[in-house]
Amino acid sequence: IMSSSKISPKVIGLTGGIGSGKTTIAREFAALGVPVYHSDDRAKYLMNSNEELKQQLMALLGPETYREGLLNTGFVAKHIFADPAALKSWNKLVHPAVALDFAQWLSDQDSPYVLKEVAILFETGGETQCDAVVLVTALKGQRLARVMARDGTTKPQIDQRMDLQWSDDVKKEKADFVIENNDLALALKQVTNVHKALMEAR
Ligand code: ATP
Repeated sequence: IMSSSKISPKVIGLTGGIGSGKTTIAREFAALGVPVYHSDDRAKYLMNSNEELKQQLMALLGPETYREGLLNTGFVAKHIFADPAALKSWNKLVHPAVALDFAQWLSDQDSPYVLKEVAILFETGGETQCDAVVLVTALKGQRLARVMARDGTTKPQIDQRMDLQWSDDVKKEKADFVIENNDLALALKQVTNVHKALMEAR
């Protein structure tokens, strides 16, 4: 039996509401050499490529869930974001597949800590799987403007997503670190400080 002396990296959750700038901040940590797992991107990849998961999701919402083998995101969003029970069932299928994928990815990482970027973390109790959590915040008006500019979505569509996410005030209480991302230069200074703290906390 092979025994490994490798210490598993600390898992640091990186979360924040829609348009807060999670991905932007994650990129800055990555530039410092921190491995980043993008849960939402990975989830999307798995929903398009994991045959067992695809069958389960189709059983839930019907054949329209996929179009030519690819996730029919418009159809899915319309159904799950308007129906809390459907959203819950959907997540119950997707989360275990992502958790397994993350565990496999983590076992390949060799660094003091990794970041797990997740849009909704506290909302699902995901912080219990993390050693610490970094919260990215930004003013609501800025978040709206950024997402509208980035995705061409409307204010009502974004409001619907925001309503499913906890407020920053509630999340701040639970977070170990908060990065305020209104001004990018100021946010980058906070990235440096948080990185330093996480490296020293080993
Ligand atoms: P989502 O939850 O929707 O994936 P996110 O939290 O990952 O969003 P990003 O994609 O990083 O957010 O940022 C949203 C948009 O805002 C992007 O177009 C990004 O370039 C821009 N942005 C991020 N931070 C700032 C900032 N400090 N100043 C101006 N624009 C920013």
